[in-house]
Amino acid sequence: MPSGIRGIRAGGDKESIPLIWDPIPSVESGDGGEEGLSVWEAAAPQVSYPRPRNWRKLEFKNWTQLVAQGHGIENFEDDDISNAWIREFSGIPHRKLVTALQLRASVYPTREFLARGRHEAVVRSCRHCGADSETVAHNVGNCPITQDARIKRHNAICDMLSQEAKKEDWTVFHEPHLRDDNNELFKQDVIMVKGLKAYVVDVTVRYEHNTSSLRAAAAEKAKKYQRLHSQIKELTNVVDIVCIGFPMGVRGKWYNKNSEFLLALGLPKSRLGRIARALTFRVLVASVEIVHIFVNKARSIVRSGI
Ligand SMILES: [Zn+2]
Repeated sequence: MPSGIRGIRAGGDKESIPLIWDPIPSVESGDGGEEGLSVWEAAAPQVSYPRPRNWRKLEFKNWTQLVAQGHGIENFEDDDISNAWIREFSGIPHRKLVTALQLRASVYPTREFLARGRHEAVVRSCRHCGADSETVAHNVGNCPITQDARIKRHNAICDMLSQEAKKEDWTVFHEPHLRDDNNELFKQDVIMVKGLKAYVVDVTVRYEHNTSSLRAAAAEKAKKYQRLHSQIKELTNVVDIVCIGFPMGVRGKWYNKNSEFLLALGLPKSRLGRIARALTFRVLVASVEIVHIFVNKARSIVRSGI
């Protein structure tokens, strides 16, 4: 048997795949019915599709069912804000656009991606820090090599939020340091104060693993600062303190409750969509840049090792 045949893995049971030099089944020479045909030779079953057919929806459903490429993709169904950049991509440099699309479809060639479906020993660990799996979620969210760029991305979102709040006459405190009753130090991202109300806002960027990833992040962040109520009250001299987690998706997912917060700040509805799209686009582009930084650093290490 040629070595190429021996390597076949996809498409079912290897033993049931006919060899190319097997005799042609009798049905193909016109003297038999479909009986006796193998699974490879029988006609595909007729599928009855619903009418009217919504191919876009059907294809998206198929996409959600792909284990690797469909990972977290259900987040982006019918989401005009998170998908706006796909329709208005003309201003995005080509290289960044390609990477953005690869991130959205979970096909960016990380080591994890390149090892998919391969049974032999393939290195999957991070080329920089040695973490078990070099995934986009790791490269963009956890790897120490990209930490500076992550901080820059985080600060950019805080700045955009602060600017919008200031336009609505909120006083903004950046990164105040507060200690809780146990003397543990906390650094909030932004505190916004107007009248007797204060919003303690904590921005976080998370990978969209599933439809609850951003909701869970928001809840976690909102809870984190509950214990600092009295210290925040002292700093801001307000009565009503609300802690807000402001999660953004690595691949450009907009968390709908962020809109409620922006409206609560007083942003007019006419500006809300534009700001939301600008924020998601900013995060997506930053994620693309982080992915490129990750790869380029690897290149420079390889060059210097030669
Ligand atoms: Zn790493």
